[in-house]
Order: sequence, then structure tokens, then C-alpha cells
Amino acid sequence: MSNEKYSLVQYKETQEYHLYESRSNPDGSCNLKGKTPLCQSKSVTPENSGLFVCQNENDTRIKCAEYANKGKDICGVCVSAMYATED
Ligand SMILES: [Zn+2]
Repeated sequence: MSNEKYSLVQYKETQEYHLYESRSNPDGSCNLKGKTPLCQSKSVTPENSGLFVCQNENDTRIKCAEYANKGKDICGVCVSAMYATED
């Protein structure tokens, strides 16, 4: 498993959640690595807050499934892209 961390952040304009590669800082805060989510969408900008930040890949998978089951609108392309980085 990779050491990559992910954050699930909502796009204000579409209300949809996208995954971002993220970085933990020594002080415990979390930054998104870039302005582009895993699905490479550039159409909108993310909110500052998300459903979760800086989770490892395994926890990200579990939480995405849980939130999807609760009816959250999570970007399927982002989730697929995370699985695709598995190797
Ligand atoms: Zn996405």
C-alpha cells in the first residue's frame, strides 16, 4: 500500500465530492497537494473543508464507501483513479 494521503473535498458549484492527494504537515495540519482532483476535473474550485482530510488509502476507501451509502455524491472517477494507483 502506498503512503499517499487523500482528502475528500466538496466542490461548491456542483455539491459533488472529489479526492485530492494530500500532505500532512509536522504540526498536524493537512494541505491539498494541488488544485486538481484525481479525476483531473478543472471546472470548479474546491471548498476549504471536506468530509475528511489526510486519510491513508485504506481508510479513504472505507470512508468513501460509507459516505456513498449515506447518499453523498462522490466522484466515481476520483475513486477509480485511486484504485488505479494501487500497483
Ligand atoms: Zn473527481
